Amino acid sequence: MRIGQGYDTHRLVEGRKLILGGVELEHSLGLLGHSDADALCHAVIDALFGAANIGDIGTHFPDTDPKYKGADSIELLREAGRLIREAGYEIENIDTTVIAQRPKLAPHTRRMAERMAEALGIDPSQISVKAKTNEKMGFTGREEGIETRAVCLLK
Ligand code: MG
Repeated sequence: MRIGQGYDTHRLVEGRKLILGGVELEHSLGLLGHSDADALCHAVIDALFGAANIGDIGTHFPDTDPKYKGADSIELLREAGRLIREAGYEIENIDTTVIAQRPKLAPHTRRMAERMAEALGIDPSQISVKAKTNEKMGFTGREEGIETRAVCLLK
């Protein structure tokens, strides 16, 4: 068994889509980034790579590479899952937290888990998505950005 943890943040800005866990959410602000800026997928990818000790998201999908401009992070997650299996591992479970003041994410967490599970070829019961506000404190509380965390267990 190997444990991994991942973390990500992206800035919230006008004129961008808000995509988390492969689910596009209705909101006046979206996440800024080279790819689609899906911070939840990014944290999960880093947890997986960390557990397998095969580098990080920047090693495999560099944000300097034009190939990843506007990339669909669900597809990056799918590729990360393939690399994990290629390294000889299987996913036992993944647990995640999204910290966002707005919008309300709880109604969408199940769909996020289903989308990410499909990309990774695992059962939705193996991936948990939890949503929190930051009680209006810090950059997430001021709605300057969204923070995500993930841990995973590989066998
Ligand atoms: Mg990111």
